Amino acid sequence: MIKIHDLFFKPFISKQEIAEAVKKIASQIEEDYQGKTPVFLGVLNGAFAFVAALSKEYTGDCEIEFTKLSSYQGTQSTKAVQSLIGVENLRGRDVIVLEDIVDTGHTLTKIIEILKEEEVASFKIATLFYKPEAYHEAHTLDYIGIKIPNKFIVGFGLDYDGLGRNLPEVYQLKEK
Ligand code: 5GP
Ligand code: MG
Ligand code: MG
Repeated sequence: MIKIHDLFFKPFISKQEIAEAVKKIASQIEEDYQGKTPVFLGVLNGAFAFVAALSKEYTGDCEIEFTKLSSYQGTQSTKAVQSLIGVENLRGRDVIVLEDIVDTGHTLTKIIEILKEEEVASFKIATLFYKPEAYHEAHTLDYIGIKIPNKFIVGFGLDYDGLGRNLPEVYQLKEK
């Protein structure tokens, strides 16, 4: 068990399980994008660890870009999603959005809106973690690493008020 700020978290997903999920997604993308050069669009800050891990497993050509949006405060998702770092030069490209986690899907809906405005050639969504009970949006997730229950997690890029992103495995909030 670990303590971050005022809350306790218990070990939930091991390094090895994460590595396997990343490898599975990398090989699925390789199969789907043979002969193409997709742009991996990482969503900061949380996806940095996933982008780093995935890009090292991916053996085809790819470009790596980042965008930054913000919707989370503390352990609760809020509806107002803001764009803090926008996308550039994606017109006509095959984009794969890389998300750390899809929860309510508000962030994803905003990103999809932006990609459509940018007139990308195609886009798909890859997420390392997914909370199916919390997701209420229409868009299909193309590549899913690990499905998890609707509980707050930290580690492997995911933070609790700024801390925990550097943890190499994932921890789940311990209920009192
Ligand atoms: P959504 O818009 O799908 O509700 O979630 C947007 C973002 O909130 C995610 O990309 C992630 O950065 C953050 N988030 C969602 N669920 C969790 C969680 O369980 N733990 C942490 N640390 N962040 C989360
Ligand atoms: Mg995120
Ligand atoms: Mg956060």
